[in-house]
Amino acid sequence: MNTTSPELTMILTTLREFVTEEVIPLEPLLLNHDYDHLLPQLQAKRDQAKALGLWLPQIPQEYGGMGLSLVEHGRVSEVLGRSLLGHYVFNCQAPDAGNMEILIEHGTPEQQESYLKPLLAGDIRSCFSMTEPENPGSNPTWMSTTAVKDGADYVITGHKWFSTAADGAAFAIVMAITDPAAAKHQRASQIIVPTHLPGFRLVRNTSVMGERGLGWASHGEIMYDGVRVPQSNLLGPEGAGFMIAQERLGPGRIHHCMRWIGICERAFDLMCAHAVRREVAPGHALAEQQTIQNWVAESRAEINAARLMVLDAAHKMDQQGQYAARDEVSLIKFYVAGVLQRVLDRALQAHGALGMTDETPIAYWYRHERAARIYDGPDEVHKRAVARRILQRYN
Ligand SMILES: Cc1cc2nc3c(=O)[nH]c(=O)nc-3n(C[C@H](O)[C@H](O)[C@H](O)COP(=O)(O)OP(=O)(O)OC[C@H]3O[C@@H](n4cnc5c(N)ncnc54)[C@H](O)[C@@H]3O)c2cc1C
Repeated sequence: MNTTSPELTMILTTLREFVTEEVIPLEPLLLNHDYDHLLPQLQAKRDQAKALGLWLPQIPQEYGGMGLSLVEHGRVSEVLGRSLLGHYVFNCQAPDAGNMEILIEHGTPEQQESYLKPLLAGDIRSCFSMTEPENPGSNPTWMSTTAVKDGADYVITGHKWFSTAADGAAFAIVMAITDPAAAKHQRASQIIVPTHLPGFRLVRNTSVMGERGLGWASHGEIMYDGVRVPQSNLLGPEGAGFMIAQERLGPGRIHHCMRWIGICERAFDLMCAHAVRREVAPGHALAEQQTIQNWVAESRAEINAARLMVLDAAHKMDQQGQYAARDEVSLIKFYVAGVLQRVLDRALQAHGALGMTDETPIAYWYRHERAARIYDGPDEVHKRAVARRILQRYN
């Protein structure tokens, strides 16, 4: 399949209709925190998505997914990103999508049976627990959480936060120091920690821009108070935690960027529709104002440019692998996050007071996607990394 194949075009058309007709109507339940009604209806939509064969777009077919390439999944991700709930309905939401990928790549047959299979089926959820409040997440080689061998077990002790979707997760993949004396990129390992074990404590869902959220739409602070897991819960080789985290982040950044483009497109549609409808004087629509016209033109240009950049990065990663595409990935990570913020800001401003309400999804995205410039590497870290590599070529 390529990006213009009839097969992909049909998938995108079906998904667009499904998102518009089945998923977007559920958004007010999320925006009004009516989780009791939202969760069963979301489950019903997930069952429908599965029945349509549109489940797990990013996962290889032998694991029950659609087997799309990164470029193809990028196109899908844009369509799903138009809704606050799109990725969750098709079981390709972060952080589960990344956890599935590393369990496929590094999980033992036993780990795949116990953790991957139910995750792929949508029967359980998971979280990824790396960042610590006391240490800089932008330097993931520096952390305090330890996993100490004791008999046949690891005993894990540490404090994490911003473990997205920890609330209700069946297991966490935890980054912990297993050898403090090793070279800095080989000190940490990734270990699977079931959340029902003694010593695992979800302290709270951290309030983010005034919202604690719930379930997969939350960010957990966790204490690991001497949690004991068998050494067979080690994911990949000991000391490979950093390397596996990097592997997870490459495609993950492409998924996020294309999701953000979906958000931009929805916000753009809302802005344009509002501008032609809203009159600022009798018979005079907001859309007649040159300021609005500038926002429309600037947003259109930025979104188009962002999409081409992301698809180019995805194509390079598909063809040449993550290492070859690392400059492109850093460039899209900060560039698209910036476009997202500018487009959301213009859409919110164009709606006036309505933009500040939860009558549209714009304010929710404006609050929560401010984080796009921070998670998966802050802007400054990506700019520094890519600029240094470029400058080296002039040395
Ligand atoms: C919504 C959200 C979801 C998240 N989900 C997860 C998750 O599921 N699992 C998980 O483990 N973590 C998660 N995180 C944490 C995220 O990965 C970290 O916030 C990120 O790595 C930055 O680390 P920090 O917050 O400790 O900031 P710090 O490392 O303290 O950095 C603070 C600021 O300093 C600046 N800075 C840092 N380094 C440099 C540099 N080299 N050059 C110039 N400036 C620099 C940047 O502006 C940066 O924003 C999430 C965060 C958010 C906001």
